[in-house]
Amino acid sequence: MSINIKDLEFKRESAWYSMTDEQKKDAHDFSVGYIDFLNNAKTERESVNVMVAEAVKNGFVDFRRVMSGELRLEPGMKVYHVNRGKALIMAVIGRESPEKGLNMVGAHIDAPRLDFRPNPLYEDHDIALVKTHYYGGIKKYQWVSVPLAIHGVITKTDGTRIDVKLGEKDDDTVYVINDLLPHLAYDQVEKKASEVISGENLNLVIGSVPYKSDSADKDAPKGVKANILRLLFEKYGITEKDFNFAELEIVPALEAKYVGLDKGMIGGYAQDDRVCAYTAFRALLDIDGIPERTAACYFSDKEEIGSVGNTGARANWLANFILEICQAYVSPEGGKKTDPGVACARSMENTRFLSADVTAALDPTFSDVSEPRNTAYCGMGIAFEKYTGHKGKSGASEASCEFVSYVASVLDSESVPWQLTEMGKLDKGGGGTIAQYMTDLGMDVIDCGTPVLGMHSPYEVTSKADVYWTYRAYRVFLK
Ligand code: MN
Ligand code: MN
Repeated sequence: MSINIKDLEFKRESAWYSMTDEQKKDAHDFSVGYIDFLNNAKTERESVNVMVAEAVKNGFVDFRRVMSGELRLEPGMKVYHVNRGKALIMAVIGRESPEKGLNMVGAHIDAPRLDFRPNPLYEDHDIALVKTHYYGGIKKYQWVSVPLAIHGVITKTDGTRIDVKLGEKDDDTVYVINDLLPHLAYDQVEKKASEVISGENLNLVIGSVPYKSDSADKDAPKGVKANILRLLFEKYGITEKDFNFAELEIVPALEAKYVGLDKGMIGGYAQDDRVCAYTAFRALLDIDGIPERTAACYFSDKEEIGSVGNTGARANWLANFILEICQAYVSPEGGKKTDPGVACARSMENTRFLSADVTAALDPTFSDVSEPRNTAYCGMGIAFEKYTGHKGKSGASEASCEFVSYVASVLDSESVPWQLTEMGKLDKGGGGTIAQYMTDLGMDVIDCGTPVLGMHSPYEVTSKADVYWTYRAYRVFLK
């Protein structure tokens, strides 16, 4: 037997080389919908709204109708389940009992941003400003001198709910946090990057024209803040106190677009982790017929601050959903039903879960932070991480080689290009995802997602090929 040594080697190369013209066209067509999603879903609440609206068009029904007993859970049924407007589960019920486990993909739909503080509005030297509180891991200096938009919701004590979206339409005004001019920044530029712009410097300009009362009373209200309050009352019927009942998020007022003369990349805010959320969402919508195992997507909130809270991945909500489907499931063949609690425990043990989150792509400009043999590369397909964590795999939930091999075999069945990677050189830093909270439930879990350049910046960049292959990977895994 002669051995061709070349066959023994494992080499990775850009997926663009092996893609057919048809796949390149599919990748482009897919990216059109993705760019649209990035522009219409800049917050976790908007992501839920956009996905639920699309899901309903595709025959998904509210899972609460199953919980109330109005609808009977049946194989082939498509359900969605919303948690407080900020997290979402979607599922296509399979032929097998949920006790046998689910095929799940889970991404997060929150993203680094700036939030309004409870008492945000003030006036200083005839400029009206908003105090902000940053959310997630940002480089604060990246948020100055870029156009910003305000998205969110105000829930007044009288029960009125006001949705806010300012700065996105062509004729909308935008908002900005000013940086210091270089001429007067001799002291500032000597500071460490983490201190160049402090948290207390992140003050958003919201107005500059003062209110002038017609009243002769010299104590009549006047000034820029008064004018902003007047404008807010006219537009939304809110008073200053109502900021206390608001969740207003400040996000880049930047449109997602193709990057590069060849349109090979996509630039846009919050691709961590909208890219995995959208690809998983589309993969689930595209399931044909009734799958063997129940296929589900989980879109969680609060990942960027540790998956905490009742809408984060550490909450019992996902486990509760699985308990509910075990409770509602009636075998088409009849027969004795497993106790739902036992079925739920078994279901979680048998569930295969892709923790769908982005990783850092090697950046040629900053290649020194990556280990070239084990980093993810832009254009080489979906990146898997057997473990994350930092300093000796701390905080990582390492996937077993059995599970890695299983997932690879599923992707290879459709020739989906994948890369098994780590994020960054050892001792340089690290990160975590929702993976460990899924393993706490007993599931088999591996991290995987699209490599990203400029992660956590106001304008992140992905490869169009990777976005497409991430979608294809989730689609073949779910079915
Ligand atoms: Mn992420
Ligand atoms: Mn992140």
